[in-house]
Amino acid sequence: MKITGYRVEQYLMRLDRAIADCNLASGVDLLPGSILFLETDENITGIALGAGAGLDGLFKFIEGADPREVVGLWCRMNDSLHKIGNRGITSFGLSAFDMALWDLKAKIEDAPLWRTLGAREGRVKAYASGLDYCLTDEELFAFYRRMAELGIDSGKLKVGLDLNADMRRLGIMREALSVASRSPALMIDSNEYWSPKQAVRWIRRMEEKFDLIWVEEPARRWDYHGLRQVSRQVKAAVATGENLHSVADVYPLIANRAVDVLNVWTGHSGVTGCLQVARLAQAFDLPVSMMNAQANYMAQVAAAIPNHWMMEVVDPGREHCLKFDNRIEDGFIVLGESPGWGVEVDEKKLKELQAHPPTGRGQFPFPRREGAGRYIVPPAKGEVPW
Ligand SMILES: [Mg+2]
Repeated sequence: MKITGYRVEQYLMRLDRAIADCNLASGVDLLPGSILFLETDENITGIALGAGAGLDGLFKFIEGADPREVVGLWCRMNDSLHKIGNRGITSFGLSAFDMALWDLKAKIEDAPLWRTLGAREGRVKAYASGLDYCLTDEELFAFYRRMAELGIDSGKLKVGLDLNADMRRLGIMREALSVASRSPALMIDSNEYWSPKQAVRWIRRMEEKFDLIWVEEPARRWDYHGLRQVSRQVKAAVATGENLHSVADVYPLIANRAVDVLNVWTGHSGVTGCLQVARLAQAFDLPVSMMNAQANYMAQVAAAIPNHWMMEVVDPGREHCLKFDNRIEDGFIVLGESPGWGVEVDEKKLKELQAHPPTGRGQFPFPRREGAGRYIVPPAKGEVPW
């Protein structure tokens, strides 16, 4: 089998509800989507959700190759970026080809990706994550209660601009999750808004009332001194990693004991890069946590990571032209037996979306908010509904 070509389809999707963190507290409900189709001479097509950039430059390193050689092809593409660096949007291009190659490899084996990657079972513990800064208190409760009714006993709240509101909303999340567990696991995420010292002050106040299991991105992604400072001065574990691109970015954090839980995903240079990062963490006996993905399809990879803890479930309604073979049951994402990612693209619906793009609010990705790392800019009047 040989790789013969590729195409990218782009579209816009309107979510069922807005999502937000403290950097853009008012939130967005319109997201860009893209799908990479990687074609072969045997009529099997691999797909990747999210296409990145620099694809033409990378394609020449895989054109004509056998997709089963995916790890070797990943090395060849990665080596080609030696001078400019495997980072930014180019890194997402490498990631997209790698993801589509893994889809092909699994489809050639007629197996779901979790089996191709060597998982013992297609089952991954879930935690709920509302990306909820723009939700009213009632909506916040409803989201976490709906998740708890699926058996999910852990939740992560967006925080950062108003300590009193953060504390109140932590209580609402805990109450909503209490039907799944008498002591639900609570997490917060401040998305790099705070300086390390601000983080320590706010988290310590929260810890007077709540038992937090992790605090996410309490300092900047590369600041291993700051992250380690937070980790040593609060009880909760420090989680970070979602904005890093490769094992090279993650290495200084792990080597300097600046991270307790590593957030992983295919933004770490595809499936191949994500597994490298997870293995590095495993060597240091650190757990990893898979980032959220459309209909949680990245559980395919999480299932094959021995040190995986639990995966982020957001569920904002992003599946307009896609079908996924998985479900949530008793707090776990349960994967089916469909080959590859278990993702089917409805090309008719995709064409409809392209012909009639939805309108909505906001701009994605979120920028960094004014004052970040220096002073707090509380939500303006009307910026958040609470
Ligand atoms: Mg996060």
